[in-house]
Amino acid sequence: KDIVSVLDDGPILRYPQLKLWQWISEYYLCATGDVYKAAVPAGLKIESETFIELNPDYEETVTERLTEREAIIAQTLDHNGRMPLGDIEKRTGLQNAETLTAKMIEKGIVIVSEKLVERYRSKKETCLRLAVDRNDDTAMHAAFDAVKGAPKQEKLLIALIDSLNKRSRNGECDDVPRAALLEATGLSSAIAAALASKGIIEIFTREINRFRYLGTDIGQLPVLSEAQNKALDEIHNGFLEKDIILLHGVTSSGKTELYIHLIDYVLKKGEQTLFLVPEIALTTQLTRRLQKVFGNKVIIYHSKFSDNERVDLWKRILHDSRPCVILGARSSLFLPFSKLGLVIVDEEHESSYKQFDPAPRYNARDCAIVLASMHGAKTLLGSATPSIETYYKALNGRYGLVTLSQRFEGVQLPAIKIIDTVDERRRQRTASGPMTAEMGRLSREALSRGEQIILFHNRRGYAPVVTCRQCAYVPKCQNCDVSLTYHKRAGEMVCHYCGATYKLPSICPSCKEPAIEVHGYGTERIEDIADSAFPNVKIARMDLDTTRNKDSYENIIDDFSKGKSQVLVGTQMVTKGLDFDKVSMVGVLNADTLINFPDFRASERAFNMLEQVAGRAGRRNTRGLVVIQTSQPAHPILSFVQSHNYKGYYEHELNERRRYNYPPYTRVINVYLKHRDLDRLIEAAARYGDKLREMFGNRVFGPDEPHVARIQSLYIRKIMLKIEISASMRKVKDLLRSVYEEFMTDPSLRSLQVYYDVDPM
Ligand code: ADP
Ligand code: ZN
Repeated sequence: KDIVSVLDDGPILRYPQLKLWQWISEYYLCATGDVYKAAVPAGLKIESETFIELNPDYEETVTERLTEREAIIAQTLDHNGRMPLGDIEKRTGLQNAETLTAKMIEKGIVIVSEKLVERYRSKKETCLRLAVDRNDDTAMHAAFDAVKGAPKQEKLLIALIDSLNKRSRNGECDDVPRAALLEATGLSSAIAAALASKGIIEIFTREINRFRYLGTDIGQLPVLSEAQNKALDEIHNGFLEKDIILLHGVTSSGKTELYIHLIDYVLKKGEQTLFLVPEIALTTQLTRRLQKVFGNKVIIYHSKFSDNERVDLWKRILHDSRPCVILGARSSLFLPFSKLGLVIVDEEHESSYKQFDPAPRYNARDCAIVLASMHGAKTLLGSATPSIETYYKALNGRYGLVTLSQRFEGVQLPAIKIIDTVDERRRQRTASGPMTAEMGRLSREALSRGEQIILFHNRRGYAPVVTCRQCAYVPKCQNCDVSLTYHKRAGEMVCHYCGATYKLPSICPSCKEPAIEVHGYGTERIEDIADSAFPNVKIARMDLDTTRNKDSYENIIDDFSKGKSQVLVGTQMVTKGLDFDKVSMVGVLNADTLINFPDFRASERAFNMLEQVAGRAGRRNTRGLVVIQTSQPAHPILSFVQSHNYKGYYEHELNERRRYNYPPYTRVINVYLKHRDLDRLIEAAARYGDKLREMFGNRVFGPDEPHVARIQSLYIRKIMLKIEISASMRKVKDLLRSVYEEFMTDPSLRSLQVYYDVDPM
C-alpha cells in the first residue's frame, strides 16, 4: 500500500520489547498480535476509519431511481456531509444501513475514503517568553517605557523577567508557563495579552508530557532494624551469584522497607526499577511511601489511567532513560524500559498476576523474570506466603532465598480464633446469619476500644441466590450457565461472568406467584448488617462495585486510614498488602468458600488468602486477632494458618502435588474449546482430545465440562495436560501449535474457538 503519512518521529518500541513479546507468544501459545494488543496503550494505536459522503458528481435526477431507504441515506449524507460509515445506522435509524450504503457505493452514489484516526490527545500548555532580547539594555528600556502608566503590565513583565532569570540559572528553557505566572502575580490573562499586543512578549502553546521528570529526591531512607539490615546484606550478596531471589518475609516484617533500600541502590547506579504489585488498590499506599523517599522519580502505571496519560507515560519512559521507579500492575511489564536494573514482584504468589482473558494468558511474575534477564537485571520476588512453585525453586537453589521471620519491632503475628459455625448456631439457636454472635461480640469489643476492624467476605453484591419460594425457580443469565446475584444498591440482578443485568422480578416468571426471594450474603448485605449491628460506627465497603472510578480506592483507603470509617467490609481486595495501624481484628465470614473450591490450587489459594488477611491485623504495637468462621474447623489448612506454619503447609501441599502429579512436579496446560452449538462442541472436543492423546497418551485428561460450562452464549469444554517436568517444553508446544493449526484450518470446524492456558492459576 502507499504510505499515507508517517506517524512517529522514531520507533515507539525498543528491541528488548519485541523479544519479550516473542517469548510470551511462544511460551503462552498465543499470537504476537495478542501481545501487541495488550502491551501498547490504545492511544498509540492508529486505526483507520471509513468515511462516506455523497458523490458530488452524482446527478440530482438519479434520485428517482433510489429506493425509499436509499433516499433516506442520501438525504442524511446531503445534510451531514462526510461522516463515519459506522454512524450511518444511528443517524438514519435504518436497519442494515451499512449494507445498503455498500450498494450505493457500488452504484457510484456514495464515495468512500479512509482516514487515520489517532485517539491520543497531547496536553498543551500556554507559555510566555520575551519577544525582545533580555540582555539588550536599549530594547529592555523601550519595553519598560511602553508599559509606563500600566502598573499591572509592568508587574507582569518584571515577574516574567525574574522567573526567566531564575530558570536560566537552573539551565531550564527560556519561557514560563502562563498559568503559573498569572497565579503568582494574581494577574489576568488580559494583561499578558496586552503585553503581547505591544510586541514585548510572545504567547505560544507547547505540547507537554503529563509526566514530566522533576527528579527531586526528598526524603530519608528508613533506618533498618538489625534483622532487616542482615536480610538486605543477604540480598545484595545473593545477587552476586543469582539473578533471582525470593524474599520470604512474614506480613509486616518490613519487606517494603527493604524494597525501598534496594530501589535507592539501583537509582544511584543510574538504573530503573520496575515494582510490580498484584492489585491497583495497593498502589495507593505504596505510592505515598515511595514518594516520601524518591519524590518525583516515582511513576505509577495501571489500567485506571486514561489512554492519553498512558501514552504520555510510555513516551516519557521511551525518551528519557534517567533513573526512576515504576510502580504498577501487571501491564507495566510492557513499558519501553531502557536501563532496567531491578524488577521487584511484590506478593509474587498472587493469582491476579495471571491474566486469564483475553490472550495473552501470561503470568506477570514469570514474564518479569524473563524481562529482567533480557535486560541483565535482577529480580526480587517478595511474599509472606510464597507460591509452591517459587518456594520449591528457592529450596532447590534455582533462586536465592532470604528470610525475615519476625514482624518489625517484634510485634507478634495475630492470634487466630476459629469459630465452628455449625456448632455455634446449634448452641446459640440463632437463625443463620453471616456473623455468629461470637464474632459480633469480639468486633464490638475491638470497636469500643477505639480500634478498627476488617470484615472479609469473598462475594460481592447483596445476595448470591435468587429463587422462587413456591416453585424453586432460579433466574439464570441468558448468555451464561450461571445464576444471578442480586445487587440492592443498583436495584438489579447481575451476571458476574458477562456483566449482563436483569430486573428483579416481582412475580415468579415460572409459576406467576409473588414469591421471589433472595438468599445468602454478599458484601453489600454484610455492610447493611454491620451497619445495624454496630451503631454509631461508620462502615466502608471496598469491592469491585465501589472502586470503578480512578480515585475510589484512594478515597476508601484514605478515609479508613484517617479513622473516618471504623469497619471496612470487602472482598479479596482488602486482604492484600494494605498497611493500617489501627486495625486490631479481622473477621473472615466464611472460609468454606475458600477451602472447597474444586481446583488443585484451592488449598494454596485458601492458605495464602487467610494468612494475608491475617497480615492486616495488629501490624503495630499490639497483637491482633483474626476470627475465622467455618463449618470445617478441622480442615488441615486452617490448622497451618492457626499456627502461622508456612513450612508445615508447604510440606503438606507439596506432598499432595507429588501424589496427584501437579506442579511443581508437572506443568499444566489447559485447552479450552468453545462453540455456540453444544453438539458440535462435544464432537470437536472429543476429536481434539483424541488427537492430543495420540501425541501425549495418558498425560491428557478430559474433555470435561468446566465449573461454568457456558459463558456469553458459548458452550465450553476443557482438556487438561500434565507434562512431566523433564519433557522438552519446546517440543510439546510445537505439537500443540500444530494441532491447533490443523483444527483451525478444518472448514468443518469453522466457528470453533480453541485456546491454551499455560500454567493456569
Ligand atoms: P511488609 O511489606 O513485610 O508487610 P512493611 O514494610 O509494610 O512490611 O512494614 C510493616 C510496618 O512496619 C510498616 O508500617 C512500616 O512502616 C513499619 N516498619 C517496618 N520496618 C521499619 C523500619 N525499619 N523503620 C520504621 N518502620 C518500619
Ligand atoms: Zn452472563
